[in-house]
Amino acid sequence: MKMSKSGMIHCSFCGRNRDEVKILIAGQEGHICENCIEHAHEIIDKEFHQKKVDGKAGDLKIQKPIAIKTFLDQYIIGQDEAKKILSVAVYNHFKRINLPSSSKNEVEIEKSNVIMIGETGTGKTLLAKTIAKLLNVPFAIVDATVFTEAGYVGEDVEDAKIARYGYAIEYDYFPPTQLKLTLETHLIENLFFAGQINGTTGYEEAACQGLIAGINAAQNVKEKEPFVLTRSEAYIGVLIDDLITKSTDEPYRMFTSRAEYRTLLRQDNADERLTPLSHNIGLANDERMFLVEQKLSGKQEMLKYLNNLSVDPSAVNPVLTSLRLLLIAISITSFPIMK
Ligand SMILES: Cc1cc2nc3c(=O)[nH]c(=O)nc-3n(C[C@H](O)[C@H](O)[C@H](O)COP(=O)(O)OP(=O)(O)OC[C@H]3O[C@@H](n4cnc5c(N)ncnc54)[C@H](O)[C@@H]3O)c2cc1C
Repeated sequence: MKMSKSGMIHCSFCGRNRDEVKILIAGQEGHICENCIEHAHEIIDKEFHQKKVDGKAGDLKIQKPIAIKTFLDQYIIGQDEAKKILSVAVYNHFKRINLPSSSKNEVEIEKSNVIMIGETGTGKTLLAKTIAKLLNVPFAIVDATVFTEAGYVGEDVEDAKIARYGYAIEYDYFPPTQLKLTLETHLIENLFFAGQINGTTGYEEAACQGLIAGINAAQNVKEKEPFVLTRSEAYIGVLIDDLITKSTDEPYRMFTSRAEYRTLLRQDNADERLTPLSHNIGLANDERMFLVEQKLSGKQEMLKYLNNLSVDPSAVNPVLTSLRLLLIAISITSFPIMK
């Protein structure tokens, strides 16, 4: 949060303090006041008008609804009804704004807005994004929670009453018990599911399933063995095993506490655990495998050395004393001490 020297929040553009303006809207790293918003708006208007005069924008040849729909079809699978409605709405909008103001046209096209309502993951953003691509206009997603956290809605938040907790699967998903360990569906051969469609939430959860589904789809095509990670080999193994054996009634997240082998599943041994498996199916290259083998043989050598190295009490006890550890009475190998 940006504060002035007096410790007061101020506009990051004009420097006015909180008490000199009516409203200060918070962004990720600063604030903006209503005066600067208006000023910025004027600049955009001016710039946009200039571009119109230059003929770079504004003279958009809007296509017929059917052509808009055909464009959407290239990017969006299904959603036919939504695509049709959107195509007509966009066409009408441009027809209306391109209508000369002096026009004596008897037909008046009403201003209309399009509101897309649907559960998470149904493709609303993709529809809007694709329309923006067609029209060559900027597309921005604003997360309402930013405003909430910054106090934009102010006191209302303090008065909020929780009517119902939101953390439940509110989106359509397929029960993951219908999947094999490879993430191929039991019912339809060669159909693999990964991510939110399996009732999970989270980037990593989606990404790791995508990886496993992708690997297995490729193994299938090449008629090779399925690639499955077990619960003791990787968190991915825990996640997939949990999903397909227990299913989930809330958005599944991978917690370390879900893994009974969590003390073995460490970041510092991930290369030892997984590189050989990855190399086996042609993902990790030879150089990477070689580096892991080198590390492993170095480790073995070091253990052997420590096992054979005998240490004398007079040499090691001062160190043990400073570390407040038990002292030794006779010469022993250094390995138990290191442990
Ligand atoms: C506001 C918000 C904040 C989040 N924050 C976090 C976070 O901080 N950390 C975190 O780990 N997770 C977060 N998540 C959850 C995370 O984003 C999702 O769980 C994850 O992205 C799901 O990945 P996915 O690939 O399964 O689905 P998606 O990312 O939803 O991918 C599905 C894709 O399919 C496309 N699609 C849908 N219908 C069609 C169609 N008919 N034709 C063609 N394409 C179609 C969609 O456009 C989309 O690109 C957040 C989710 C939301 C909504």
